[in-house]
Amino acid sequence: PLILGIETSCDETGVGLVRGTTMLANAVASSVDEHARFGGVVPEVASRAHLEAMTPTLHRALDEAGVGLEDVDAIAVTAGPGLAGALMVGVSAAKALAIAVDKPLYGVNHLVGHVAAEQLENGALTEPVVALLVSGGHTELLEVSDVASAAKLLGGTIDDAAGEAFDKIARLIGLPYPGGPHIQKAAADGDPSSIRFPRGLTSERDMTRHRYDFSFSGLKTAVARWVETAERDGVPVPVADVAAAFQESVADVLTRKAVLACQERDIGTMVLAGGVAANARVRDLARERCAEAGIELRQPRLSLCTDNGAMIAALGAAVVEQNLEPSAPDFATDSSLPVTQVLV
Ligand code: ATP
Ligand code: MG
Ligand code: FE
Repeated sequence: PLILGIETSCDETGVGLVRGTTMLANAVASSVDEHARFGGVVPEVASRAHLEAMTPTLHRALDEAGVGLEDVDAIAVTAGPGLAGALMVGVSAAKALAIAVDKPLYGVNHLVGHVAAEQLENGALTEPVVALLVSGGHTELLEVSDVASAAKLLGGTIDDAAGEAFDKIARLIGLPYPGGPHIQKAAADGDPSSIRFPRGLTSERDMTRHRYDFSFSGLKTAVARWVETAERDGVPVPVADVAAAFQESVADVLTRKAVLACQERDIGTMVLAGGVAANARVRDLARERCAEAGIELRQPRLSLCTDNGAMIAALGAAVVEQNLEPSAPDFATDSSLPVTQVLV
């Protein structure tokens, strides 16, 4: 079956077309530039941008795949989590389309969609995996056997998400929004070992109570103090070194705990997912550590890490494959939909 996926949870309007785990189209329009001058996503601006981009993005996806709306067998749309007004635009469009073409509609979980995106790269999961889901709003370690079934939540951040940490640190050292790609770029000219920033929740004590959890607020404070001290001493802040050392701390903790979870749960495969999975250092360190531990690493290409419609279509395809019931025609968005709930 041909699945149409619609994504509008944050600042990307995404429409994708997928058959099984084969991607036929992935059209994305981003309003990120409109938010940059505010230093973060402005919900009202995002909603308006989705409204404007929805129809052209849909047509772009259909053209890219060389299909018509009448060829679509089912529609999947992000029902949550995300910005309420932004979600509403995608869900309203999806409901209208589902009625127009008389096809089943599935309101699906955006976060599980991030994990499902990987299947477009390396095919359907064949055994349970540990998924390291690292995005702008979430940082979670999941055990996933089938993306259409509820994941087991092993742990998650107790404060900031990894992507949020990148965005906040970028602002602190004078880099533009969104911080992730800019920190990565700055870090390329820096020395990650020039400063040793803390590794959140890795002390012996924390490893008993928060074994698979993450914390980035201590790291953020440490970077802020370091920068303040340099400024007070009248020393120019070595932006590249700070960016590299910060990025190293995040990549180290994320990959260390994800590998540990694989080993302790006797799981042979790790999946990277979410916007921060696009980070070159996270990818390299995950590759290195998985190879050392004999773990197979699965990671999507960069364009499938950040928000897009194909990932939602991929999850829709998995849900259809499992013969799950479509969502009720009047289903509501849920801005805080838990990661363990695949469908609304
Ligand atoms: P969520 O999925 O939790 O609802 P979101 O959809 O806003 O949040 P994503 O689109 O998955 O998040 O990812 C965006 C985040 O990824 C931003 O915080 C951004 O800074 C970060 N990011 C993107 N590219 C990189 C990169 N190369 N290095 C580090 N972080 C990155
Ligand atoms: Mg985004
Ligand atoms: Fe996302």
